[in-house]
Amino acid sequence: MARIPNATIEQIKARADILEVVSEVVQLRQRGRNYFGLCPFHEEKTPSFSVNPSMGIFHCFGCGKGGNAITFIMEYEKIDYIEALKRLADRYHIRIDWEETGEDREQGEIALLYELHDLAMNLYHQQIFSEKGKSALDYLIQRGFSREIIKQFKIGFATDDWENLFRKVDAAKFSPGVLEKSGLFVRKEGTLFYDRFRNRIIFPIHNLAGRVVAFGGRTMDANPEASGAKYINSAETPIYFKSGILYGLFYSKDQIQRFGAAVIVEGYTDFLRMYTSGIQNVAAGSGTALTFHHAKALKRFTSQTVLCYDGDEAGQNATERAGFILMKEGLDVKAISLPQEDDPDSYLRTHSVTDFNLLYKNAPDFITFYINRHQSELTSPASKTLFLEKIVAELIEIRNPVTRELIVQQVADRLRLSEELINSQIRFVQRQKAAYGTSSSKPDTVEEKTIQLKSPVEKAEYELIKLILTDNPPLGEIVTAYLKPEQFSHAILKKIYSRIVARLDDTKSIQPASLFDDEWTEQEKFYLSRLLFEAEHLKEESADIDLQRTAKDCIVVVLAAETEQQIKQLRERIKVAEKAKEDTEKLIIELSNLRRKRKEIEHLFTAIAE
Ligand SMILES: [Zn+2]
Repeated sequence: MARIPNATIEQIKARADILEVVSEVVQLRQRGRNYFGLCPFHEEKTPSFSVNPSMGIFHCFGCGKGGNAITFIMEYEKIDYIEALKRLADRYHIRIDWEETGEDREQGEIALLYELHDLAMNLYHQQIFSEKGKSALDYLIQRGFSREIIKQFKIGFATDDWENLFRKVDAAKFSPGVLEKSGLFVRKEGTLFYDRFRNRIIFPIHNLAGRVVAFGGRTMDANPEASGAKYINSAETPIYFKSGILYGLFYSKDQIQRFGAAVIVEGYTDFLRMYTSGIQNVAAGSGTALTFHHAKALKRFTSQTVLCYDGDEAGQNATERAGFILMKEGLDVKAISLPQEDDPDSYLRTHSVTDFNLLYKNAPDFITFYINRHQSELTSPASKTLFLEKIVAELIEIRNPVTRELIVQQVADRLRLSEELINSQIRFVQRQKAAYGTSSSKPDTVEEKTIQLKSPVEKAEYELIKLILTDNPPLGEIVTAYLKPEQFSHAILKKIYSRIVARLDDTKSIQPASLFDDEWTEQEKFYLSRLLFEAEHLKEESADIDLQRTAKDCIVVVLAAETEQQIKQLRERIKVAEKAKEDTEKLIIELSNLRRKRKEIEHLFTAIAE
């Protein structure tokens, strides 16, 4: 087992710039000390995703995601810590000299899921060349996919057996929990599972790092309904973010970058046919309709896209939906219309690459494609109005004003309407939306995920952590002098506070980004990143003297509540003792001590302050 030396990890962390890392996938706009953009982790129209470069952290006020540059890459790319470090090292040209450790590091769940997928891929791939896989192999070869292609893309075959894969899995290594999460099995009962993929040709789906994270399984049944569905695909898992991964993009990303454009197709075989025919700047939606996450993934490599879906009605409808999604993400879109009976796979089997290139070269831009497709409906003023409403509903979601303006010009031209008319229609719809509170033109009304604090004590605890996180040393000293972590009542706040105390003991300062290097749950990261952002805000807004005053007030609240709790418990004990006719004298002395203590707490800081 090799590991990255600590010094290198430190070097990577020091170099990792949250703003650079996030900017690659999120368009950020500066507002004060923070940057805001649309959250890549949840769907939203108003930016609530924020990055603070000086703290080196991000936080989404909408969904609560938070962390540093490394956790951002881990979450966004669905990769583990080591992979994320490697990615950053690559990016900043930091050399990693792997250290041999000898002993096997305990494997995390993510690593196990990857391993399970490798195991499955190898088994399926092996089987397609076995006796049992003969029909699958014949099927593919008959459709023009050679053995070389099958080997290159690790295409496989899952036999018609309920436990084909399950039997091969080492139960000592992969817990039932991991098996269930992998999405490769269906739990029968207890520790018994059966295979999800049976009697299907298997297409492994890679993430951008080249790891197999999911599979698509195709039936060879001429009547697909008889065997469930033509395709079944892996469900979402901790390593597979369905709407973010395009099939084949791992293979084609360099070609897409080199070529400056990506052809987007629908199916696995469409991709394979294109790629192996020499049209290598291609990627396929893997079993789902195109989403804005897919668009974002593509945007890392190119801004030009060409949709090439099935020629039939369904395919052309899907082209419309995908086109608007890509456009809204700021990508240029063209659309190829294949003959009605063709998909890219069948087209390239019956036509030459030159034929295809001609279609490609002459592909209209998406708006032209869209209007052409509806041209015949636009016969009356009423139908024109209806069409305009439909297109305006899409246009208002295009955020880039330049892109939108260009499209408005185009639409006006094609429909023989004035640009002003279309623009006024856009403004009208925007106003209407604003009236219903769903406008994208109101950046300050964000659907906020809120932290629920039940009691004044919890609120005080929250406030105290926030105050310490302003990284104003006297505040940290005051709070830690009076409160130990175990005196906190809120479980998450207690954990956060204890980590902070440990850090202050250690280094005397809080480095916000490095706080996220610890193990935290999703909910804890939500609290921590929210606290850090609020602390930053507080620091700007308030004078030090006020912050100290607040800290003292909050300490009193927490201590008083603790003492109050002790008094309550003691009263109970006295009651019980009295009932049992036991001696209560000691308890009563204790009670009066506690009462005195509570009084003292109330005046804890008055002598100092006044
Ligand atoms: Zn979010």
